Amino acid sequence: MNDGQPPSVGSLASALGFEVEFTDLPNGISGYLTDEPFAPKGKKIVINANHRRTRQRWTALHEIAHYYLHPRYTDPLEPEAHRAGVTSVDHFYATDEELIEEREANEWVEAIVFEQSALQAAVSMHGDDLQAIAWKFGVSVEALKIRLRKGR
Ligand SMILES: [Zn+2]
Repeated sequence: MNDGQPPSVGSLASALGFEVEFTDLPNGISGYLTDEPFAPKGKKIVINANHRRTRQRWTALHEIAHYYLHPRYTDPLEPEAHRAGVTSVDHFYATDEELIEEREANEWVEAIVFEQSALQAAVSMHGDDLQAIAWKFGVSVEALKIRLRKGR
């Protein structure tokens, strides 16, 4: 388990070739993926500058997930086709067919963030101190609770 700071999502995004931009967005919009011809991947991840750091991290990973899982979103004819405007806690409980890809993206993020053995180790070390566990993984307590409810 990594005892230091959670890895930087911004550095990961850059290493993968995405440009990352923080900007003022309405509170209901976490971020989105858009074309950026000068970025190595040709894509820019735009993140709501007003959100908490933990939520911004999740948003960045969520958009990276869409890039790899849902390549139609990279169709240059539809550069604005995907906006993670509905990314919120509600999002995790989506049952609507239209939100399957949203759920897939969040499951991908969960798999990356909560490596199973590390999560179990953190839970055994910190018990009910969800704040401490969430800090370790660089996520919100809300995201951690959702993951823990799913069990293994
Ligand atoms: Zn999304």
